[in-house]
Amino acid sequence: MTQIAFDNSYARLPSAFYTKLPATPVREPTLRAWNADLAEQLGLPDMDMAERAAIFGGNDVPDGAEPLAALYAGHQFGNWNPQLGDGRAILLGEILDQDGGRWDIQLKGSGPTPYSRAGDGRNWVGPALREYLVSEAMAALGIPTTRALALVTTGETVLREAPLPGAIVTRVASSHIRVGTFQVFAARGQIDDLRTLADHVMDRHYPTANDIPDLLRQVVQAQAELIAQWMSVGFIHGVMNTDNAHVAGDTIDYGPCAFMDDYHPARVFSSIDHGGRYAYANQPNIGAWNMAQFATALLPLMPDRDAAIEDFTAIVNGFADAYQTAWRQRFGAKIGLGALDDAGVDHLGALLSLMTNDGADFTNTFNSLSDDPDTQKVFQSEDGKEWLTTWRGLNPDLDKMSVANPQVIPRNHLVEAAIQAAVSENWSAFNDLNHVLSRPFERPQDDTYTRPPEPDEVVHQTFCGT
Ligand code: AMP
Ligand code: MG
Repeated sequence: MTQIAFDNSYARLPSAFYTKLPATPVREPTLRAWNADLAEQLGLPDMDMAERAAIFGGNDVPDGAEPLAALYAGHQFGNWNPQLGDGRAILLGEILDQDGGRWDIQLKGSGPTPYSRAGDGRNWVGPALREYLVSEAMAALGIPTTRALALVTTGETVLREAPLPGAIVTRVASSHIRVGTFQVFAARGQIDDLRTLADHVMDRHYPTANDIPDLLRQVVQAQAELIAQWMSVGFIHGVMNTDNAHVAGDTIDYGPCAFMDDYHPARVFSSIDHGGRYAYANQPNIGAWNMAQFATALLPLMPDRDAAIEDFTAIVNGFADAYQTAWRQRFGAKIGLGALDDAGVDHLGALLSLMTNDGADFTNTFNSLSDDPDTQKVFQSEDGKEWLTTWRGLNPDLDKMSVANPQVIPRNHLVEAAIQAAVSENWSAFNDLNHVLSRPFERPQDDTYTRPPEPDEVVHQTFCGT
């Protein structure tokens, strides 16, 4: 049996935090994707294909693993849900990489748990493949995120709108602690558990935080920076519920997420987001709202509640400034300028409105600036030409732009095509796309990966996959 050096700090926390149980074995685990670079970074031992399939399909529990499903709660679309938790995931355990980094190894789609509610605990190839591709693309873009180590098909059928092939994706994360993990203990009045969780999070993610207000301040900062980074690449998370807000400021839970093709601030892809709560331009507002929920969950740890409310309100209000600063840096870099001042914000705003009116491709418009803006319709109008003239007068730094503007993003229609092919047991589209996405700042020879979708290729809606 393969030896993996587990060190399971979460499993050592009180039993109120989780239910210990293994994954439910599957009929025919087959390894479809393996992230060799990540495996190496994690210092995983050599394993043959069969061993990997057995472990990351959930059939073998490796020595040292202490499989568990974690408890959490959360606000879903603003509505309080007192009991969520890992309903289709099992944390195998944690490993320390060569640099001392601590990583959760989690199987997603691994069978029912006490937190499954009405769900079957499974995942089908579509969402597993989307999570794999998009989370790895995010990592390659340099944006904090969970990672994907393996994708195993189960040889079983999962019943959704149709019978679909089952799959398990192995997620690697700095932890799986969410705002909702704090909320569950606060809501239940389990204050000792809440304090234990706060200590665990400070040890693990915020070693410089010396008290609860400082923890809150650092989490607010991390979330604000994360969301500014999403905005800068046109990423729409799609389901920013508090149970999907990672306390370390990592992107987590790739469900109905999508990268925009044509720019519009009100863009929504998720089939269940009817009110546009999680629309592109609303993400910073929701980030701040989620931080207010986090602050509320921390209140019971404070000796003087009224004073803490005042203090925490100021900290949460600081989200807006932290976000603005990060956003001005990111978007300034995209047009070759330093952090934008107020005039710069107006100048960028003018470009964004031209892009909105024109339905301009978000990624390609920014890329064209340092290359050949005339290729984009948005710069052919009088207003567009005028914008370019003004912009050139600001002496933009083209080198800065080349590392701020990815050439390749996981476009929906490409992800969708890879899913369709995989359902028919053809994994080459997935492999090719995954390869190109690992070098997002290089322009691939083949324009398949950079051109916007044709009208009949456009994906208008994405789904949670549950
Ligand atoms: P999500 O929207 O993916 O973040 O999931 C919200 C909650 O629903 C989490 O507690 C999940 O564990 C749970 N869930 C989602 N899909 C399933 C499923 N197929 N079976 C059981 N639980 C699920
Ligand atoms: Mg979730």
